[in-house]
Amino acid sequence: MSSTKYIFVTGGVTSSLGKGIISSSLAKLLQARGYSVTIQKLDPYINVDPGTLNPYEHGECYVTEDGAETDLDLGHYERFLNKPTSQDNNVTTGMVYQAVIEKERKGEYLGKTVQVIPHITDEIKYRIKKVAKKKRYDVVITEIGGTVGDIESLPYIESVRQMKWELGQSNSLVIHLTLVPYLAASGELKTKPTQHSVKVLLETGIQPDILILRTDRKLSDDIRNKVALFCNVDRNSVIESIDVSTIYMVPILMLHEKLDIIVLKKLDLVLNKEPGLRKWKTFLNKLNNPRHHIKIALVGKYVELPDAYKSISESFIHAGASNNCQVNVDFIQSETLHVRNYKRKLSAFDGILVAPGFGRRGIDGKILAARFARESNVPFLGICLGMQCAVIEFARNKLGFEGANSTEMDTETKFPVIDLMEEQKKVNQKGGTMRLGAYSCVLDKDSVPYKAYRKKIISERHRHRYEFNNKYLKDFENAGMKGVGINPGSELVEIIEIPKHIWFVGVQFHPEYSSTVIKPNPLFVDFIKAAVLFHTLEEKKIKPISKNG
Ligand code: GLN
Repeated sequence: MSSTKYIFVTGGVTSSLGKGIISSSLAKLLQARGYSVTIQKLDPYINVDPGTLNPYEHGECYVTEDGAETDLDLGHYERFLNKPTSQDNNVTTGMVYQAVIEKERKGEYLGKTVQVIPHITDEIKYRIKKVAKKKRYDVVITEIGGTVGDIESLPYIESVRQMKWELGQSNSLVIHLTLVPYLAASGELKTKPTQHSVKVLLETGIQPDILILRTDRKLSDDIRNKVALFCNVDRNSVIESIDVSTIYMVPILMLHEKLDIIVLKKLDLVLNKEPGLRKWKTFLNKLNNPRHHIKIALVGKYVELPDAYKSISESFIHAGASNNCQVNVDFIQSETLHVRNYKRKLSAFDGILVAPGFGRRGIDGKILAARFARESNVPFLGICLGMQCAVIEFARNKLGFEGANSTEMDTETKFPVIDLMEEQKKVNQKGGTMRLGAYSCVLDKDSVPYKAYRKKIISERHRHRYEFNNKYLKDFENAGMKGVGINPGSELVEIIEIPKHIWFVGVQFHPEYSSTVIKPNPLFVDFIKAAVLFHTLEEKKIKPISKNG
């Protein structure tokens, strides 16, 4: 019998209540009390992974160290826990069905009718238990995507019901997150949606153990008592989750609500020590009391949905706090930048980040943004496609390579300065076939990234098919753009830098995936530091001159 305890988090009333943040906050508190915890997300869609989804659909696709393309909630899990997740931490309906159908074809169910119950539910339960086994976690928190009552999440809910029954009282529990809306017309908070949502859960055979109520104002004792009585939960298990200015406050709110103590008691786990949240609180203190304020332009093409750049936005928050700085990020739609307006539109920023992306749309604006940063000596960070744009820009305007491009945008270009990786040329399936996951990179000792990371070999996560074309490396280096981070095995250029510029770095990897509250990504920290310096010089009307004149 496993000693791992299982917590399931479901949501009701509406989506987007923040199950991911609640799961992460609870995990943080249990971790702070000395328990090893991991969080898993079950997604009800039929895509095998979100790698094939447009970011407008579900926001950013987050990449784990072991190269899985996953839901953005895994980013929150890592940022809160400061522990890597893996491909086992995200399960989709597509993955479950694919595995069951493959087994059926191999004859593993020979003679049987393959059905949702028990075959699909068994596969789901297997995957929930599998994540626990990997590192013998004390607690596994499994977040069920979607809202109870959705047709597509029924097999997950049924699996939770079965596991709860199999594991017994003190080995598992269900937390249900709902909304208590305020009706301005009657001046009241309403509990009926919560009651209905618990009813839906009861219809599937699950009695929630703890209710967490999202609200925009304080819940009175009367409301808590009412919810407890009508939803069959203990009075102290009705938890308030009030809106806050930053998601990083939620663990503190949950601590005040004693969520961790209630959970540990219900799971028969000892309250072995006071939660160690010193570093977390220091971070919050810095976040809430900034000494500097800067403005960064994030140039991308999915900006209408800020979730598309979730990890980048969070990295700015971590790096900002570590520099005692509030980073105000303006999202700029790259399609709106033109030769006529780009200087004006970009002139008020202390730093420019050109975002990752795929395909032709919006590429010209990204190239203009890189040009502006280079020519005006404004701190610049280009990530993945952002780095590729900086390379294209440099080739066209500094090296005079007319029409230089990435072969992703123009297969016929005379100067393919960014080209398809060798191993990508044979690939014709789209799902899960990019260069994915963590790769190591050797840094040039005389470079900005080396000063930022303070080590020679780093490891960061990738998600791309194209790369810097080494055929042109000498031309670039002679003109002032250097390859300062190289993959030791393949010689791929992973980082470019313009050493004479105040701070101009492009990275083929995604530094934003590894930034956490406790360990902000060093490159982001250094970028913000440069932006703060730039801001100070601008304020003093000292024109930031490039290094060496
Ligand atoms: N589209 C580019 C490539 O595949 C960049 C990808 C990205 O920005 N993640 O190489």
